[in-house]
Amino acid sequence: MRITADTHRCLGAGQCVLSAPDRFDQSEEGTVLVLDARVADEAQERRLRDVVALCPSQAIALED
Ligand code: SF4
Repeated sequence: MRITADTHRCLGAGQCVLSAPDRFDQSEEGTVLVLDARVADEAQERRLRDVVALCPSQAIALED
């Protein structure tokens, strides 16, 4: 499983960066950058699902 991001959907709200700064950053344009896409275990998956749910534009997701 890994994190995916759609920069065309990203509104630059920054919720992902605030919630998981070890995983997300923002580009100079303000759109999401994934710093580390790997989801290694269930604990990481649970935490990242919470972060994904906070995104107001469904720009980030977890995919197999
Ligand atoms: S929370 Fe969503 S809209 Fe906001 S920066 Fe992250 S991916 Fe973009």
